[in-house]
Amino acid sequence: MQWVHIIDFKKPGPTTLIVWWVHGNEIVWEKAIEYLITKTETMVVGWKIITLQANLEGKKMNKRYVDHDLNRAFASEDIGWSYEVSRAHEIKDFFKEIPIDYAFDLHSTPSKSDPMILCTSQPSSLALASKMPIYHVVQWLIDRVEWMSLLKYFQPRLKLGMAFECGCHEDDVTITIGKKIIDTIIDFHQGKELPSQNDQMKIAITDIVYTADPNFVYTKPYKWFEMIEKWEVWWVDSMWEHRFEVSKIIVIPNTMIAQDLEKQSKTWVAYFWDAIKNK
Ligand SMILES: [Zn+2]
Repeated sequence: MQWVHIIDFKKPGPTTLIVWWVHGNEIVWEKAIEYLITKTETMVVGWKIITLQANLEGKKMNKRYVDHDLNRAFASEDIGWSYEVSRAHEIKDFFKEIPIDYAFDLHSTPSKSDPMILCTSQPSSLALASKMPIYHVVQWLIDRVEWMSLLKYFQPRLKLGMAFECGCHEDDVTITIGKKIIDTIIDFHQGKELPSQNDQMKIAITDIVYTADPNFVYTKPYKWFEMIEKWEVWWVDSMWEHRFEVSKIIVIPNTMIAQDLEKQSKTWVAYFWDAIKNK
């Protein structure tokens, strides 16, 4: 399989980009992509799928990244040279003239965590996400995130886009979820009626909080998605206790990612979300 693999049905229709191995140690995706290629071999449908293996060196080394997180490396300003920065340039150059309608970015996590979808701000992203077999759907108002991820870079030209965090790298359950996602993407393109996942928890980003304070400490061991009550103190640092006037859902990056962030920038980050109502 080439780093860019094109499944071209040579009929008019949308082009889908499926990105995997943005992080080189997220090894489960090879099986899901093989499944996609086998499944579409005998299909006659009017569209084109492009799969992109993003971080090739990271993948060879089975590391999240070589020098720098590729999913932060798509910035247009100069952020210095690294393997991932040059790789981001290669990807941008390759796709410069290629129209992409839909983009799906596949991820897994180092430690056990609930699968989640991060969808771009277009309403069509949320609409498709509500048909995906994943419980947590997060509307990722991507412009509010400081870093330039691959999906943020592609977003202006997309009809919809989403990133999937499907659980732990080495877990069989992650593969099963990955294959279900691939099935749903294929059905979507074939124009099949997809059932809504009515019990999904849909939330939207409202705040991202950063602190570089070394005295930062959470007031209790939060997990992945947790409700923080109105006025509850959720962290303290050398300056003050932090709390919100309203109840929020906090999303804590899993431990490894938090350690990564700490190494890179000495900055801790927490995300706060509100439930999306009536959708
Ligand atoms: Zn990842």
